[in-house]
Amino acid sequence: MKKTPLEDWIVNRTRISPGNQTELAAYQFKKILETMDYVKKNSAFYKKHLDLIGENTISSLDDFKKIPFTYPEDIEKSPYSFLCVPQQKVDRIVTLNTSGTNGEKKRLFFTDKDLLLTVDFFNYGMRSLTDSTDRVLVLLPGNTYGSIGDLLKKALTLSGVSSTVYGLLSNLDEVEKIIDERDINCIVGVPIQVLYFSRLKSDVFKRKIKKLLLSTDYVPEAMINELNRNFNCPVFTHYGMTEMGYGGGVECEALNGYHLREADLYVEIINPYSGAPVENGEVGEVVFTTLTREAMPLIRYRTGDIAAFSDKPCPCGTFLRTLKRVEGRLENRVEISRGAFLELKTLDEIILQFEEIIDYQAVLKDSNTLELEIALYDESSYPAVRRQISTTIQETFPFSLNVKVNKNQEKKPNQLVNSMLKRKISDMRKERRNE
Ligand SMILES: [Zn+2]
Repeated sequence: MKKTPLEDWIVNRTRISPGNQTELAAYQFKKILETMDYVKKNSAFYKKHLDLIGENTISSLDDFKKIPFTYPEDIEKSPYSFLCVPQQKVDRIVTLNTSGTNGEKKRLFFTDKDLLLTVDFFNYGMRSLTDSTDRVLVLLPGNTYGSIGDLLKKALTLSGVSSTVYGLLSNLDEVEKIIDERDINCIVGVPIQVLYFSRLKSDVFKRKIKKLLLSTDYVPEAMINELNRNFNCPVFTHYGMTEMGYGGGVECEALNGYHLREADLYVEIINPYSGAPVENGEVGEVVFTTLTREAMPLIRYRTGDIAAFSDKPCPCGTFLRTLKRVEGRLENRVEISRGAFLELKTLDEIILQFEEIIDYQAVLKDSNTLELEIALYDESSYPAVRRQISTTIQETFPFSLNVKVNKNQEKKPNQLVNSMLKRKISDMRKERRNE
């Protein structure tokens, strides 16, 4: 097994001695102090937010773990107050739709220097699975300057890997044709879209695809198992979000969790209720601090993602930490009654194992009723699938739930929704409260 290429990358970037975890922590701590100093001088938000943190009061990473968090809502309310450079120095602005009720949008800013650091990370991260003999198809948005597909293409070009950026999956026949014509052997894409494609175009998949990288959303185990089983190809996952500068971490050949972009990010796992750090091996919320960002550094940013640090060394032999695969988002853990939760993750594991299903939506109508709308590519399977899904759900959760499984009439296999929106459980109880 090959050691993660991120190790050499981090050692070179940070100039620490190879294998020295203590020196890496010292590098990160030094960068944290520099970042705090920089944002207090340049960002209106942090000037106020960190006002009470005096100079020289943070003398260790433990001290740092006591300073206040930054929340997604802080960015939604006032994105420009995070900006640390004049607006004319911003080379890319990403606007993300949010669940905010006031129509606020989350804006994120990057300079060219920020984008180049992401290209650098992608360049080394992709070496976990590709080399110059591969032909990669990128099923991620890539038309605009600084988009994720654009940065990935630049990174692959630096390593001499040939790549085609198609954009999000919209036309299955077109993608099939590209795979054949360009002799593609590796796909990078959104998990649910790659799964649909593999189900509907299994011939070309079987014939051509030798490895996969899934990105932009957490990946249910059922999905990985199916892809392994049907196509016998390794499934790598990448963890990242726009706030991280797209890239955050990528799996090595052990396929057992991500090694992180530790030259540019400091990652913590905290208890989402108390805010206190949790032990390695224990699940909590991912929080990160940017170490090298120019336009819009973030300090202790709450991601809403659930994961744990591994408490064992990675079989690839690196000294770097391993973040176990993200298990979903906090908001997709819906409390049915005190202490009893309905999780999207569990629904995914149950529903996505039916290969007839191309997508589904979950709506919690009230504390007793869950409505599922499933899209099938073989409608004759509906009665059987419907029965099995409701039985399995009722057996799985420790509370009684009236499950209604409806057929989605609109979604046809060849009209996939061209969307980067993450799936979620719509909780009607909450929406009624907000009215
Ligand atoms: Zn590893």
